[in-house]
Amino acid sequence: MRDSRVVVIGGGMVGAALGYGLARQGIETLMLDEGDQGLRAARGNFGLLWVQGKGAEFPAYARWTMDSCRLWPDFAAELAELTDIDVQFRQRGGIHYCLDEPELEAYRLELAQQAEVSGGDFEYQFLSPTQLARLEPHISANIPGACYSPNDGHVNPLFLLRALHAGFLAKGGHYRPRHHVLNIETTHDGFMLHTEQGPIRAEQLVLAAGLDNRRLAPMVDLSQPLIPQRGQLLITERLPRLLNYPSIYLRQTGEGSIQIGDSSEQVGLDDGNTPQVMARLARRAISLLPALRHRHIVRGWGALRVLSPDGYPVYEQNRDPGPRVHAFSSHSGVTLAAVHALTLAPMLMAPRLSPSLEAFTPQRFKD
Ligand SMILES: Cc1cc2nc3c(=O)[nH]c(=O)nc-3n(C[C@H](O)[C@H](O)[C@H](O)COP(=O)(O)OP(=O)(O)OC[C@H]3O[C@@H](n4cnc5c(N)ncnc54)[C@H](O)[C@@H]3O)c2cc1C
Repeated sequence: MRDSRVVVIGGGMVGAALGYGLARQGIETLMLDEGDQGLRAARGNFGLLWVQGKGAEFPAYARWTMDSCRLWPDFAAELAELTDIDVQFRQRGGIHYCLDEPELEAYRLELAQQAEVSGGDFEYQFLSPTQLARLEPHISANIPGACYSPNDGHVNPLFLLRALHAGFLAKGGHYRPRHHVLNIETTHDGFMLHTEQGPIRAEQLVLAAGLDNRRLAPMVDLSQPLIPQRGQLLITERLPRLLNYPSIYLRQTGEGSIQIGDSSEQVGLDDGNTPQVMARLARRAISLLPALRHRHIVRGWGALRVLSPDGYPVYEQNRDPGPRVHAFSSHSGVTLAAVHALTLAPMLMAPRLSPSLEAFTPQRFKD
């Protein structure tokens, strides 16, 4: 049996960011991950650092997202210096395309509200067709409307995950892959984790197991109400530069491929892909970017979002005086990686999370 001060269950986007943030403060941390057979949103996502459209009706989330986007430039530089991994961080802004007039009108109202609740930091500009053509000359002239925000950006999410793991190890963290946590017992001075490789004792515990937080949280008297939502993505062959800015539908990667996203499907734990959805994504992509018409798709995949009932993060800690346990789930783990590592992780050693995070507790689903 091994002892660790803090054990993080899950080495996906949330767990690796928190693990890195803990190790960065010199806290002895062990990160466990079940491995390749697990559901891993971290390996199937779109890579956006996205602000526009986030949190108009949930001010704490709007501000938290802005906080992360402000931290991202230094965070990416820190990871690059520490690990030599360039996560392809770009924050020159992003564009949202409104596909019909009603959507455009609704989006105007939504962003006005987001700006109001964001405390003045969030910037955006609706684009006339001429302005859009200047920013994105290859995008179809038939798009009814578009909105640019300088706060948006993107990264290569696989490089990010690798950099978080490498940074965690460089800061003295310990990582055990193929350690599926089967169950958790609370003891008088900590937790006993039962894994397929034997028991592990932890003084303090962080649940960051993505969708498996649903199963693990009740073992420590927490609750993580989560719903899997499948997103399918496509990726084209490498192409000359066609896009200057990312969007939720299309982004051109550092290598030149166009990533085409993404569906929102309720299909339980099925993370496969289907020809019907892939065809729909391809049609929408061509209508936005006609230059894709005769290009090749080289890959497609499905991955499951870690979604709460209202779509916002769920952060929780135990209230009783016993050993400390936190549980964290978020459907925007890439965007929030910087704030998870640099702001949230340091709070884990304090008696309580900051009151500014109170809005994220699952209590909101009971009220
Ligand atoms: C199609 C799609 C597109 C997305 N696009 C974006 C985007 O553009 N921008 C953005 O910010 N976010 C995006 N996301 C969301 C982002 O990927 C997730 O927010 C993030 O991956 C969630 O991180 P997580 O660590 O909670 O879960 P995961 O990344 O799924 O990681 C959970 C980890 O826990 C491990 N695990 C599970 N159970 C156990 C157990 N019992 N014991 C040990 N280990 C366990 C798994 O192996 C896995 O590695 C997207 C998601 C999807 C599916």
